[in-house]
Amino acid sequence: MGPRAQNSLRTQSKESDSPILCNLFSTCHLTLPGEAEIEPTFRCVSDDGKTRTVTNIPKDFFQIEAYQSGETRISVLASGISKRTSDRISDAVSGHEVIDMIAGSGKIVSNNSKSDIVLSSNLEGAYSLAVIRVSDTYNHSPAAAAEISDHIFGTSGDPLNVVTGYQECSGGKVNISPATGSRFSGGIMELELTQNIAGLFSEDVEEDVTDELELILGVDLSSYTNIMYILPDEVNFNGAAYAYLDGRISVVSNQYVSYQYVLIHEIGHNFGHHHSGRENSAYGDLSGMMGLQVYEDDAPRACFNAAKSWWFGWYSDRHVEVTPTSGSMVLNMLSIDDYLNDQVTSDEQYTVARIVEDHEADLFVMYNRAEGINSQVLGHRDQVTIVKQNGHMEQSWLEASLGLDDNAPFRWTTSNWNGSGRDLVMQICDNVAGTPDYARLIIYIEGLNDISCDNSCPSGMSEFKAGVFTDSWGDETGWWLKEKMDTGYSNVILRDNYLPSNTYVEKKMCLSQSKCYKFKIRDEGQDGICCADGNGSYHLKIDDTTIKDGTFEGLRDEVTEFCL
Ligand SMILES: [Zn+2]
Repeated sequence: MGPRAQNSLRTQSKESDSPILCNLFSTCHLTLPGEAEIEPTFRCVSDDGKTRTVTNIPKDFFQIEAYQSGETRISVLASGISKRTSDRISDAVSGHEVIDMIAGSGKIVSNNSKSDIVLSSNLEGAYSLAVIRVSDTYNHSPAAAAEISDHIFGTSGDPLNVVTGYQECSGGKVNISPATGSRFSGGIMELELTQNIAGLFSEDVEEDVTDELELILGVDLSSYTNIMYILPDEVNFNGAAYAYLDGRISVVSNQYVSYQYVLIHEIGHNFGHHHSGRENSAYGDLSGMMGLQVYEDDAPRACFNAAKSWWFGWYSDRHVEVTPTSGSMVLNMLSIDDYLNDQVTSDEQYTVARIVEDHEADLFVMYNRAEGINSQVLGHRDQVTIVKQNGHMEQSWLEASLGLDDNAPFRWTTSNWNGSGRDLVMQICDNVAGTPDYARLIIYIEGLNDISCDNSCPSGMSEFKAGVFTDSWGDETGWWLKEKMDTGYSNVILRDNYLPSNTYVEKKMCLSQSKCYKFKIRDEGQDGICCADGNGSYHLKIDDTTIKDGTFEGLRDEVTEFCL
């Protein structure tokens, strides 16, 4: 921008420098294989639906912990908004506006302005995807609508598409249907722009499409949860596609509209998921759709890595939280395909483990079994994957993948765990093939609560076991275990709740013999687990010696304190 433009803006701003408010989104671009990776860019969406590119974000802005794509609302002075200027004629006439965060004194005004354009609050249920097939009057257009509809919705029998992909990975919990309404056929709406869009940047065409839909045609897309623009080959894309993180919009180049990976990946961004990386590559984690997978039509059948799977919550009845400083653990990590096919046989089989500690970023552990819904996953196949992700919508990083053959190490350690000066150890013991397939894994802190693959507790520790026979209201029963510290009781180190009815469920953990613990069981029905609605009871054992048998009949809860 030249000095003259700045002057004119400044003059203008004296009269009305009332700030505009908008919701700030990260937009994640899908880099093509072999090309330099593209950093996320930022867009701001104001309440009238207008989208502006955001530039010049202060370096420390994203260290403000509260930033969350789509929820963070900023205010920017009108003086910080200018028309995009370049040598291109289209820019001079387009009216596309750019927010300069520094010039506009952009600041966060709230972090709880979660609007209906944000998706991640509810990741189960019915979704509707409106696909806008964008062409222009200069003969630039994507593939035929019926073909696009087939790739995305399987309307002509495409076996692997967005609908089947999400249905399979979620175990039927996410159902995406084609948009319906007078303007839609097979989930696709045709939109023809009157300007020549060849060579324009995808972001500019996106803004044109949004303006055309909302301001000119008055199309109300608010009843659709997801909106995907398909732009012709001639549009200038940075990568293959991009999407609003935790927003509704994705923008896909026609060249990649047949690729299952691209489509599932972009909708994954709408669901609030950032990329899955490894080492220096933001996409280098090959164990899920938010990292790199194959660019092919009708492939791959693959789902999401450990961290993304945890946050999707589709397998959450078999999640487990582990705090290694409080005790070592043996984990039997399930094949997700077997889990979804009802092959679970024991209460001690888990889908995703989250390793939680006060001074560490979360680690997520999963068995990346390559079968069924995950049979075509690109890498780390049949290995136990360990992924670090610090918060729901953050980039994840594959720390290690463990196996029992020459392709992978069987053991992973990280030093000075949680500031303890000791190593955290994770080791794979067995890959068990059967019904279900699972991988057996041990987690401990070296020199503190060592454990070996023979599945007994290390010296200095004893096995604690809590078993509950539930009554007919199992989902009202829950329990937790805390460790006594100098300052009072710790956070929960083991828990179980929403139990199945009239069933025996049991959890085990190795506990230190030099510490004391508090166990609390409760019944939301407030009358215990015996005997009005079934004959429930519970039992606590230390190394197979019973320390408590009870029913807490007529009571809301019961506490047992014990030292080993
Ligand atoms: Zn992406």
